[in-house]
Amino acid sequence: MADKKTKGSDEIKVIEEIVEGYWICPNCNAKNRGAEQQCDACGAIRGEDVQFHCDGDAPVITDEAELAKAKAGPDWICQFCGNTSPAASEKCTGCGSARGSGKQRAVKEIPPGGAQPQSGPAKTNVPPQPMPAAFKIGCGVIALLFFVLMFLSSRETPEKIEIIDNQWTRIIERQEYKTVEEKAWENEVPQAAVKLSSSREIRDYKKIPDGFEEVEETYTEKVKIGEDKVEDGKIDLGNGRFQVKYKMVPKYKEEQRTRMVRREKFRKEPIYAEKVTYNIDRWIDIAPVELKGTQDEPKWPDSGAEKNTPPKVGDVSEKARKETYLVKVRRLSDGKEYEVKEMRNKELTFEQFMKLRKGTQWEAIFSGLGDLREIKLDPAAK
Ligand SMILES: [Zn+2]
Ligand SMILES: [Zn+2]
Repeated sequence: MADKKTKGSDEIKVIEEIVEGYWICPNCNAKNRGAEQQCDACGAIRGEDVQFHCDGDAPVITDEAELAKAKAGPDWICQFCGNTSPAASEKCTGCGSARGSGKQRAVKEIPPGGAQPQSGPAKTNVPPQPMPAAFKIGCGVIALLFFVLMFLSSRETPEKIEIIDNQWTRIIERQEYKTVEEKAWENEVPQAAVKLSSSREIRDYKKIPDGFEEVEETYTEKVKIGEDKVEDGKIDLGNGRFQVKYKMVPKYKEEQRTRMVRREKFRKEPIYAEKVTYNIDRWIDIAPVELKGTQDEPKWPDSGAEKNTPPKVGDVSEKARKETYLVKVRRLSDGKEYEVKEMRNKELTFEQFMKLRKGTQWEAIFSGLGDLREIKLDPAAK
């Protein structure tokens, strides 16, 4: 039986175990059992300076006689030969001298996760993993690409271009004043409406209490599924054994369960209202008119707009005017063609379009990535 004491019966239990540690021979580096007085490999005595170590897999002592030795107290150090002897021994196990005033080894408390005096062969602390080399290289390549793109994008070079085509489009969006049929609830009918008909329709529902019912309901419950044994400090007993304290931390799982619950029932009762069908005059979007051209001067199409005050059915009004200008360009150095609708994120204006006539040549600014940024229209800037 292990030396297990259970303290407290609530959530976190604490248990204790006596385990045997080990020591490393300072003479030959051999690993020896904690209780051993002399090195198994070279016979050197376990001197005063030798430290005891204890790992997670240290053997648990269950034998009653061995437990008694572990609890007998720390070893004592012979003042004549430096050997350490068990507490129960009245004579030095090394040279046979009487115990006399031989001093005891220290009994040391080691806090949870506390550092061992010296590193043993089996360390529990894992050093942080370095980033994989491939990942680092990947990041480097992406960063480099980013800077190359930034550099190319920010570099601008002037080049000669020729305008090879002009295209313009002008559109007018329109509305017509029309009589339309609509439906609305009686209290929401506009004043100008001409009522045609009405009918009783369900407008909404009322919830009316209608007794109780038993329904199945799902809920989650925390269920204990075991315990994790977590080390919570230990004591170096000064004789090669350690007293290790563990916390038994309960582990839980969430479980879906069902239960029957009583719930109030409701029934739906319709609320009726009059729905009115009516005629009303409104501005309604109609087909836009559009005009396109190339080298000719851009013009607006005839919108046919005609408005009376107040408006009459059949009136047409303009809602919005939209114009787009596009020039096709050839770069003289390599014959590459571009379509230009905007310069530096601003759409081409009528004035710019009228200067950029087919057959004219200009200086244009290209980015390092090959985009046409701007055509230099100001001769002073050349
Ligand atoms: Zn040795
Ligand atoms: Zn001795």
